[in-house]
Order: sequence, then C-alpha cells, then structure tokens
Amino acid sequence: MNADPVAIARDLLRCPSVTPEEGGALAYLHGLLAKAGFSVHRMTFAEPGTAPIENLFARIGASAPNLMFAGHTDVVPPGDEKAWRHPPFAGALDGGMLYGRGAVDMKGGIACFVAAALDYLAANGGAPKQGSISLLITGDEESVAVNGTIKLLQWAAERGEKFDHCVLGEPSNQETFGDTIKAGRRGSLNGTLIVHGRQGHVAYPDRFDNPIRGLVPLIAALQTPLDEGSEQFDPSNLEFTSVDVGNPTVNLVPAEARARFNIRFNDRHSQAALRALIEQRARTASAGRIRYSFDWQPSNADVFVTKPGPFTDLAASAIAEVTGVKPKLSTAGGTSDARFIKDYCPVLEFGLVGQTMRAVDERVPVADLLALTAVYRRIIEKYFG
Ligand SMILES: [Zn+2]
Repeated sequence: MNADPVAIARDLLRCPSVTPEEGGALAYLHGLLAKAGFSVHRMTFAEPGTAPIENLFARIGASAPNLMFAGHTDVVPPGDEKAWRHPPFAGALDGGMLYGRGAVDMKGGIACFVAAALDYLAANGGAPKQGSISLLITGDEESVAVNGTIKLLQWAAERGEKFDHCVLGEPSNQETFGDTIKAGRRGSLNGTLIVHGRQGHVAYPDRFDNPIRGLVPLIAALQTPLDEGSEQFDPSNLEFTSVDVGNPTVNLVPAEARARFNIRFNDRHSQAALRALIEQRARTASAGRIRYSFDWQPSNADVFVTKPGPFTDLAASAIAEVTGVKPKLSTAGGTSDARFIKDYCPVLEFGLVGQTMRAVDERVPVADLLALTAVYRRIIEKYFG
C-alpha cells in the first residue's frame, strides 16, 4: 500500500472541524490530492441565516465512467472532553484503536477512499487506466446540510461534470465490518397538527369549544398504517413526538391544542403525496366538525433507493473478497447526503462500523481502516476493469 489510511485518518482527526468549522481538514486533503495529480476546487457556499461552509471537489481523469467517492469532514461536537479516554482531536493510537471525534463518522472513511485512490493511481503510472475518479467532500453534513453536498453537486453540474456511480463512505455496518451496504434510506418529514377551539371557563361547557376533544380523534386517525412496506423498505411510520396545550390553569379550557409528529417514509411516497394523504385522513376523521390546520416544516430529506444490480453486486463482491462475508443490502437508519446524490447518479453507502459514532471515545480499529481501504481499492479495480 503506497498511501497509509491510518496516517491520513490521524491527520484528519487532528483538525477540529466541528460544523461549520473547516478546521484544516479540507486544506490537508487539498494538498494530498493536488500532489497526486487531482484537480482540486475549494468552494465556499453561503445562504442568509446559515454559516458559510467550505467544500472540496477533486477529479482525476477526463473521460467516462466517472466514479465518485463522497463524504464529509465536519463532525459533531465532542461534548465533555474530560470524559474522553484520549482527547477528541488528538488522533491517539492505543491498543490497535484510533481514537477521535469523526474516527468512524466519517474521517476514517474518507482516509480509506483517499488512500485507495492514491494507491490505485500509483499502481497505474499516476493516472486512471480509463475513466475518472471524483471526490466530493463537504463540511456541512452534520448540521442543516444546506451549504454542502446539495450545492456542491449543483456547482459541479453547471461545470458539466457527469457522475456514473457514487460510493458514500458513511459508517454503514451494523455489528461487524462488512455486514451491511446501505442501498437506500427513508425520507423524513416533520409536521404539526393544530386544532382550533374557543377558550372558556371549564364550568360552562356552552361557552367554550375544547380543542383537546378534537385533537384525540385526529391523532388516532393519523396513527393508522401508511403502507405495508415495499420491496426494499420496512413500512413507513408516523410518530407523534409531542402534544402541547401549554395550559397552566386548572379551570380554563385552552383555545388551541397542538401535536407534533415526524414521518419516516419509504419509496412508496413522495413528500407531496404524503402530505395529501395525511390531510385527507384528517378531513375524513373530522367530518367537518373539527377546526384544524397543518403546519408542515420544509424538508430536504427525500427517500433514496438504489435497486440491486451490477453496481451493488460489484460492491458486495469486493466486500466478500476482503472479509469473506456477503453483506446485506439495508435501507434502515436516518438520512444522509445520499438523498442529494441520488438525483445525479446511483449511490450506495459503505464505510466503517457505526457503533461508536457520536459517542464519547469514538474510535475505529486499525484493522477496519485497512480492510475498508482494501474494499475501496477492490471496488476501483473492478469498476475500471
Ligand atoms: Zn456521517
């Protein structure tokens, strides 16, 4: 191996890149990739009300197919640093483990695909045999994700960049390295149901209209199943997360009652169709007798799914060759930047084991970094034949 993924991961972990700080992580990758012959672009995106964010795009090769590796260098805050066995931004090696915030989510993953790409290039005289390798690395994944991958992809498309397939290096494995490829993730939508009534003294029922009486049947109606799942997904789920009246007075009926909910939805729904379905159910349940409204939060968390086929087979066989285990294709878990990438090319997620992500003492076995680099190296080799 020409490039050492452990050294790259350690150097990245020493950059304190808590969103929205770049922390030196992209500057470090810029230097490494430029030296290997990549053309590297650093793009800062901003929007009113959000912090400006630095991003990086790098490509080597000019022809198709263009294989993209994607990831984020930003990390969630470390919390109480004194609770850590080793400082969260020291990149300490101890007992075969590399410690630090972002070790698995996902500086470790980035180190592995960078090392794999550099090794492939070195083995082929410094350039791809055919096709291109692109790296899309954002500093805005862990927070609101508006100045990162979504804008970086738009920028790349405007330059005429075309992508054929993408591997997103998020920690995808559940228990042991190689057990899971993520070939889809559910979408997420937040809403509030508001029932409107009339305030009044609890002793005079003819003078008030209690919104809580209306809220109960509407909540019941919205909790009926949304679907029975799909080929690759479990059933969608609507879950109420809060019911709020905010009434400190014992003898007063409030004017309004609210219930907040989140929906995790599969590929049977679009956001618009889902909103229409929920509103239809409320209409039916209210039968014209309950005054209510919905407040939907804007969401950029659409569902993504990649059907099993040659690309997932290629990744699965690369993993099996390195680990001896055939990974399963999963669509469980929260959202990721794959929701944006899927609009440009098929995408799958494969990275480290997710167990210590966001936890105190986030850490990765050195053996897993070496295995993941070997998997990415096999994927590149197979992809370009
Ligand atoms: Zn992540």
